[in-house]
Amino acid sequence: MFSSGILIEAAELPQAELYQKRMELYKKTEMSTGVPWFYIAAVDQYEQSIRHVRKDLPKPDGLVGIYIKPEYWAGIANPYIEDSNPLSISFFNGKGLDGNGDGKAERKNEEDLLYTAGKYLAKYGTDDTRIRIALWNYYKRDQAVIAIMTNAKVYRKMNRIDLQEKVFPLPKGYNYSYNNTWGDRRGWGGRRIHEGTDIFAGYGVPVRSVAYGVVELKGWNKFGGWRIGVRDLNNTYHYYAHLNGFAKDLKIGDVVKPGDIIGSVGSSGYGPPGTAGKFPPHLHFGMYKDNGINEWSFDPYPHLKAWERSQSKK
Ligand SMILES: [Zn+2]
Repeated sequence: MFSSGILIEAAELPQAELYQKRMELYKKTEMSTGVPWFYIAAVDQYEQSIRHVRKDLPKPDGLVGIYIKPEYWAGIANPYIEDSNPLSISFFNGKGLDGNGDGKAERKNEEDLLYTAGKYLAKYGTDDTRIRIALWNYYKRDQAVIAIMTNAKVYRKMNRIDLQEKVFPLPKGYNYSYNNTWGDRRGWGGRRIHEGTDIFAGYGVPVRSVAYGVVELKGWNKFGGWRIGVRDLNNTYHYYAHLNGFAKDLKIGDVVKPGDIIGSVGSSGYGPPGTAGKFPPHLHFGMYKDNGINEWSFDPYPHLKAWERSQSKK
């Protein structure tokens, strides 16, 4: 059938074609459910990203990232857990729907999956507020709602989904140095380990967003000084601390692109608001991953090295 054909091909498709095919499916789902494509794409991307870091969920293997548990799809009391008959699924109060009109509601068919998700959202409505409520009722977790609304905002603004480009946080042409300091013990603020990489550079060197994302945090913290947090489309949170200041007009909720200047290198922190100069100027860069259940910090050093290499080639 059409569906399994796509499943087999997905792994072999070049990236550009994969994005194009996904976009076609999202647009099609918008047509059939009335839910704008960027909400559908946002849910799909969120599900895709958590499946990469969750042991209890199968790794994404097709065009579409959404995973729906068999008992939710077929109905909890349905004796046939892989049921694809829309009538018996509905009888057992399962949620699976037939999206491509072939008379079957298949849990692993891209169009059926997206249609089922779209119809679920459409029950609530098609604006930000209603979609948020729909998402909360499904996931029962604020973090999931935040991550999905981040994706939706970026997709809507950029009007495309091929947005995985990354850059090194400091622009070419400035002097800087950094070592792998992840996990070191910190000197200030008690028993904490160092969750990030310190990039030493002069005061005022521009600091850029490394990814497409949304500004989730901006302000002062006694440890990080002036800092900014940006969540990207992979539900990775990027933390930029000890800044000298912020880019003019940058606000919480803004969409940023890789290379957009968000602030500059400083030495703020380790005291009340405005404290600076207690250590040499540097950018503290941290990365945090969320898997839909909890969030943890991971070592940004290998990523920085990779972005630095691709920057030097340009
Ligand atoms: Zn640091």
